[in-house]
Amino acid sequence: MTTTPAPSLADRALAALAGVHLPDGDTLAGSGRLAGLTASAGKVSLAIRVTPKEAAAFAPVRDATEAALRALPGVKQAMVVLTAETSASPKTPPTLKATAPGPQVKVLAGVRHVIAVASGKGGVGKSTTAVNLALALRAQGRKVGILDADIYGPSLPTLLGLHGKPRMADGRKLRPMDAYGLKAMSMGLLVDAETAMVWRGPMVMSAITQMLADVDWGVLDVLVVDMPPGTGDAQLALAQGTQLAGAIIVSTPQDLSLIDARRGITMFRKVDVPILGIIENMAHFICPDCGAKHAIFGQGGAQAEAARLGVPFLGAVPLTMELRQSSDAGQPVVARDPEGVLGKTYQNIARDVLHALEHRKP
Ligand code: ADP
Repeated sequence: MTTTPAPSLADRALAALAGVHLPDGDTLAGSGRLAGLTASAGKVSLAIRVTPKEAAAFAPVRDATEAALRALPGVKQAMVVLTAETSASPKTPPTLKATAPGPQVKVLAGVRHVIAVASGKGGVGKSTTAVNLALALRAQGRKVGILDADIYGPSLPTLLGLHGKPRMADGRKLRPMDAYGLKAMSMGLLVDAETAMVWRGPMVMSAITQMLADVDWGVLDVLVVDMPPGTGDAQLALAQGTQLAGAIIVSTPQDLSLIDARRGITMFRKVDVPILGIIENMAHFICPDCGAKHAIFGQGGAQAEAARLGVPFLGAVPLTMELRQSSDAGQPVVARDPEGVLGKTYQNIARDVLHALEHRKP
């Protein structure tokens, strides 16, 4: 007697899609629009290819697809994104003009300022800076949220010590987590790292803008977006699509990091996002034994670069064991000791950022 193996979760997910119809009556499964279906450990995610013009009409299709997947036995989480790809070949450079947000981008009605923390490359301390800056803004009495859009290496769960899964609020909005008084949400809480790694630029963009809109952020003075590192299409699209009030570039003083920081500034300028300033991270090392300062990555590089590029220099954060240890322990230094030397450094930066946001000419 032979036994037929049980169908895999991916097969069952595909079969479930046969019941989802597109606005033109076609079935989703047979439309050739499916991309990147992954299914493992009760989590299913996929993308539906649409043109930017179709995105609004396809929102109900996305919802119906998520509902069909969620209804499958064994599915704990379903994430469906619309990928608004243009018909241009991937080699064509992205449009570098500021444009009105596409239909897939929803305005965050309760959020006064969305700001991006970006870096030209990974590992310069962008996420550490984003978290401590968000906490420093909160220490200035503001209501603050933080969105970890660093889809390729989401580190917010570690930095803020977040555990568990976000819950649904009423309707289909996700409730952000609370971390040290911040409203926090991370791609890392929703999507497997391996799944996100294979997403291409437009899928990253769709997932992030969807996450901005589908999270119940409530009323916030500032929402800090920890951007994916780099200056590729995904970053550009995100900068273009999220109605940013401003961007902060994190760089080390090293020449190589500065070249990337310059690219970041150029990118934001092309899409008319104001540069709030550069933060120099790992500016110098303070020896924990003797207290001496060592300029490991050179001295004052980012400050000089900021002056050369005509953007504000927001401050220098040293390379310290305390920062590294507190980040890795999920207790950010500003939450632990807001009035300590490092806490005050971030608070000074936060004051300048608020001043720039709140005294901007319309
Ligand atoms: P990115 O987001 O740019 O990839 P992270 O913020 O994740 O960088 O930082 C990378 C590593 O460097 C982390 O282990 C973090 O704790 C450490 N780090 C970041 N900034 C500092 C600093 N000023 N002093 C010491 N360690 C730091």
